[in-house]
Amino acid sequence: MNIHEYQSKEILRNYGVAVPNGKVAFSVEEAVEAAKQLGTDVCVVKAQIHAGGRGKAGGVKVAKNIDEVRTYAEEILGKTLVTHQTGPEGKEVKRLLIEEGCNIQKEYYIGLVLDRATSQVVLMASEEGGTEIEEVAAETPEKIFKEYIDPVTGLMPYQARRIAFNINIPAELVNKAVKFMMGLYTAFVEKDASIAEINPLVVTGEGDVMALDAKINFDSNALYRHKDIMEYRDLEEEDPKEIEASKYDLSYISLDGNIGCMVNGAGLAMATMDIIKHYGGDPANFLDVGGGATAEKVTEAFKIILSDKNVKGIFVNIFGGIMKCDIIATGVVEAAKQVGLSVPLVVRLEGTNVDLGKKILSESDIDIVAAESMADGAQKIVELVSK
Ligand code: ADP
Ligand code: MG
Repeated sequence: MNIHEYQSKEILRNYGVAVPNGKVAFSVEEAVEAAKQLGTDVCVVKAQIHAGGRGKAGGVKVAKNIDEVRTYAEEILGKTLVTHQTGPEGKEVKRLLIEEGCNIQKEYYIGLVLDRATSQVVLMASEEGGTEIEEVAAETPEKIFKEYIDPVTGLMPYQARRIAFNINIPAELVNKAVKFMMGLYTAFVEKDASIAEINPLVVTGEGDVMALDAKINFDSNALYRHKDIMEYRDLEEEDPKEIEASKYDLSYISLDGNIGCMVNGAGLAMATMDIIKHYGGDPANFLDVGGGATAEKVTEAFKIILSDKNVKGIFVNIFGGIMKCDIIATGVVEAAKQVGLSVPLVVRLEGTNVDLGKKILSESDIDIVAAESMADGAQKIVELVSK
């Protein structure tokens, strides 16, 4: 799960990680009020969306007085920001962070991420802050330094110090940088984060070491033990289809293609996406209806697929193990009746009660293309959507 910058900063502050003073604002008036309360000469008006690259897209503005705060807040609130992370459709700005302006001496990059290859959290840092770290990694990888963290000992101060020296933090500020990294690591572990990215970390004219930006992602599987993090969830930033799917306990992820997939079991769902790709098609989603799906769940899954305007055809690929084929067939028929099927539908059923399932489908008056195998089904749907 993703949260906003101002929320990440709230968490970090609680772990003794230095961040500038700031306040969230949902309206222009609140933005002006927040700036007055901060009382600093310079304020920064920052769009709060679940994506980075806001600065380049005009979502971060430095205001020298209250009038400028008002002007920028009016300009940014309600605007659809298109950054390299939002996709071409962009994201509408509904919240602002009004933050004290910071006297930046130099920008750095600090990140923590779980490295699956070594099963360790890795601390990454670079002197090239403020820019896209992916570019630094591609062009000058020698400028990125890493420390792998033993989960038993946690981040050791000597590792944080080594990073600070490697990225050329001024000698007199190394202790502050170490404190910063230790706090960041503790927050990461205690809150079950999967990514924490501070870009930029800055050294200020006053000799502070601060997080000017903060992006934290959390492991969804651990959220049940972090009610406080759950409160930060902003449903408006999430795909409505994915929210709907989560209500019915369906594993659904929307993708860019045009073939809707309804499959049971994550492995089969992955294989179905692969085989569609193999025959030259593009899946519109990953959807695992699960082992014990009911006809109602299948109906909802079908509705979610059909609510995606990009879907030009649907491929139902079910192996009836725990799940019986007749349940799926009933669900498909019910859903098609309820929502009205406007696109081609290919169904491949195999396993428990397969004959009964096929019978239900063929006796319904819905236009269904039956497939003999997974490959046959994939070929058929790819052909149907390309017409
Ligand atoms: P994004 O990564 O989405 O572009 P950032 O929060 O990193 O957004 O802001 C972009 C840039 O704006 C930063 O690299 C920094 O130079 C500047 N900036 C951000 N916050 C402040 C602040 N409080 N004071 C001064 N400059 C800031
Ligand atoms: Mg940034």
